[in-house]
Amino acid sequence: MDNDQTIKASGHNGSVGGDQDQQAVLAGEIQCPHRVVGHFGSQERSMTTLVIIGGVHGNEPAGLYAAKRVLNTLREEQPTQFNGRLVVLAGNLAALGHRNQATRYIDHDLNRLFTDEEIAKPATTSVEHAQMQELLVELRSIRAHCERMIVMDLHTTSSDTPPVMVFEDSIRARRFARQMPMPIYLGFEEELGGLVVDRVTNEMDSIGIVVEGGQHEDSNSIDVLESVIWAGLHSSGVLNVDAIRHREKPGDLLRASVGEEAYKVYDIRYLHTIEHASFKICDNITAGLKIKRDQTPIAIEQGNVITSSQRGRVFLPNMQQHKRVGDDGFFIVRHVGEGWLGLSARLRNQQWIHWMIARMPGVYQMEDHSLCIDSDIAAVLKRQVFHIFGYRMIRHDRRDAGHGLTRARRGVSAFVRAFLRGPIKGGPDMNDPRFWVVRRHKLDL
Ligand SMILES: [Zn+2]
Repeated sequence: MDNDQTIKASGHNGSVGGDQDQQAVLAGEIQCPHRVVGHFGSQERSMTTLVIIGGVHGNEPAGLYAAKRVLNTLREEQPTQFNGRLVVLAGNLAALGHRNQATRYIDHDLNRLFTDEEIAKPATTSVEHAQMQELLVELRSIRAHCERMIVMDLHTTSSDTPPVMVFEDSIRARRFARQMPMPIYLGFEEELGGLVVDRVTNEMDSIGIVVEGGQHEDSNSIDVLESVIWAGLHSSGVLNVDAIRHREKPGDLLRASVGEEAYKVYDIRYLHTIEHASFKICDNITAGLKIKRDQTPIAIEQGNVITSSQRGRVFLPNMQQHKRVGDDGFFIVRHVGEGWLGLSARLRNQQWIHWMIARMPGVYQMEDHSLCIDSDIAAVLKRQVFHIFGYRMIRHDRRDAGHGLTRARRGVSAFVRAFLRGPIKGGPDMNDPRFWVVRRHKLDL
């Protein structure tokens, strides 16, 4: 997910002995892979198909190495109970096959192109537009031939970030992901447009999960991603992983890699986007560090100290040498308790709640389960209120209505104003920035 183009991904495996020969063979194949790297299981229309995508970023081939290992093991062991299909797809073939292994992409970040606008452009627009179209054809075709598709998009990071899973929060996706001992980060699709998994979730009505397996060059990353694939096969009900011989049980390896973070859930609360090339993360800031609202200096930009209007923990601090304006500077995330998760699951199932929300003053119901909300009201409700009711922020201006009493006072006055003003005749203009747009999670509907 991160934007580093400078760090070379060797994609090697540090594990012992004869694996090195196997790794050399894999390296040759992954230098110039086909779109469909391999598959296992029934060719006929299947109940569940687990799709693994690796190398959406050319400098992150670890996911493909991991998937190759899984395919090889499956072919050796030939498990009798395989209830579905596993398909492995290569992401950015042009970048993966580039002679410079540090090549993340040629023209565009492939993992930002899966928007309606970019998809409508011809494949000749850029190298990555062609890659995107091909990948899309493949995914749509797989989807058409199974009852249920789950896509895991495997990545690695340039910064030293422990393995995590990132996805759009829906009850279906939660149920699948929470069987794996990994930390979960929710809400990133609200900040990052055009993700492959976003297309998978919202066009193809399928669970789509990004997995960050660890640092590009850490030999453990391939092991982690291999374990994630086994865990995914198990969690999806395609294969009982206990039926396969492993050097180390996938669950044990994942637990060892993430430590106490296993099963923890975090919600994104803030993103600082880089506004000037001088942006630099402060020396004492590391991923996972707790910071205070408006106080802890997180970065310096044009001589100004950058803080966060939200308290929480720093996630994916951008420590790369080459930063561009518009890149993600850092995220602030907040731990989500089990109580909150349970409450959120119960609330979003109550149809009367959605009926009520849509009828509040300053709130307008649009097509496809989205709501247009007066930004004065939306800023008071904040991201977390929408999240608990199962809404995704589609458009917002990052306005913050303050905290405590100030926020309460602003909230009351915004509601009173909206009530007195009455509904806008003919509905609000969707393009008017005065409104935030939120939409229920597709997989919850
Ligand atoms: Zn990546």
